[in-house]
Amino acid sequence: MLHNDNLTAERPTFVTHLECSMTGERYEADRLHGLSKVGRPLLVRYDLDGAGAALTKTDLAGRPADLWRYRELLPVRRTENIVSLGEISTPIIELPAVAREAGASNLWVKDEGRLPTGSFKARGLVMAIAMAKELGVTTIAMPTNGNAGAAAAAYASRVGIESVIFCPADTPEINVREIAAQGARVYRVNGFIDDCGKLVGQGARERGWFDLSTLKEPYRIEGKKTMGLELAEQFGWELPDVIFYPTGGGTGLIGMWKAFDEMEALGWIGAKRPKMVAVQAEGCAPMVRAWEAGERHATRWEGAHTIAMGIRVPQAVGDFLILDAVRASNGFAMAVSDEAITQAVDDAARKDGLLLCPEGGATLAAWREALSKGLISPDDRALLFNCATGLKYPMPDQSKTLDKDGPIDFAIL
Ligand SMILES: *Cc1c(COP(=O)(O)O)cnc(C)c1O
Repeated sequence: MLHNDNLTAERPTFVTHLECSMTGERYEADRLHGLSKVGRPLLVRYDLDGAGAALTKTDLAGRPADLWRYRELLPVRRTENIVSLGEISTPIIELPAVAREAGASNLWVKDEGRLPTGSFKARGLVMAIAMAKELGVTTIAMPTNGNAGAAAAAYASRVGIESVIFCPADTPEINVREIAAQGARVYRVNGFIDDCGKLVGQGARERGWFDLSTLKEPYRIEGKKTMGLELAEQFGWELPDVIFYPTGGGTGLIGMWKAFDEMEALGWIGAKRPKMVAVQAEGCAPMVRAWEAGERHATRWEGAHTIAMGIRVPQAVGDFLILDAVRASNGFAMAVSDEAITQAVDDAARKDGLLLCPEGGATLAAWREALSKGLISPDDRALLFNCATGLKYPMPDQSKTLDKDGPIDFAIL
């Protein structure tokens, strides 16, 4: 069993309090929280001295390669509240052919499509649901473009929490069916994800559902933070030079940035940070627009459209956390076209045998553009995030048929 040890071992946790990401105001741990009083995300704070004394790099090296190995740096207090569907440590896979073609080396993909429910939403939702269980929640609700709803439904069903999920009407069929199959009540809504979010808010007020929207509860960030912990260890505690992250609500980018700070406080890494690149689609690029305008907050993107549904997020409550991290890291925000995304997905699969999701393709397209514009150098160690399995997305039909009963010219096959 991959994660058995972590599930059974009693280990202390080190959460001290929660903190408003905007004002720094303190909130008590071990209570249900949504957004802070000023309507911004809450961040979980730890006694990092204590955690560092309880958990060393050497300890980590001896633990099973899964998400719960970081237990001391995660919020769940009681072991019985841990839920798991096998959150493996995801592999980092090189794209040598695609890199060579661009005159570069050192191009890697962290392939998050291997996680339960086929996307990295599992990292955030496994933590949010474990904490919902710990804090006595009986029904959760959330808006989703597909993957988050699937992960929420799966983990909620596993611990006996009811889930109510709202998705935009044009969410791909496979996602909606997966959500329902995993036990949620799922509704298609004639609007975008933020419109769905408003319904969740109303339902939360009227029905007492717990709102699990991106960054509106404190623990999804903690789950996503494990990407930062994991990649540091995988890179031998020497972070890559640049990280391309497909940015919707930005949980992963914010979570990794938090992980880097916590690891520095623990003495696990130094002060050097990767350039953080927030990648969006040209048809929905509120962060890119705000970054270019030098703004700390982003205005809603009207008429959002892109094939990369996971990053079709017109407005994000953690906008300033994304933009602060991008700026502090000396990184940038970049929008790519759907054509460039499709081309990137096709190239990675055809040349390097790795099937990316469109959002993962967006990071490859952005890497190419950043390289050609001189924003990064050809020998920078670049890490792309492929956030879901490419198998969940439509692929072009390139098949040809053969008539077994007629003559076949094998010379041309
Ligand atoms: C949710 C999602 C994203 C965006 O992640 P955030 O951390 O919310 O910005 C990117 N790609 C896929 C496949 C997703 O499901």
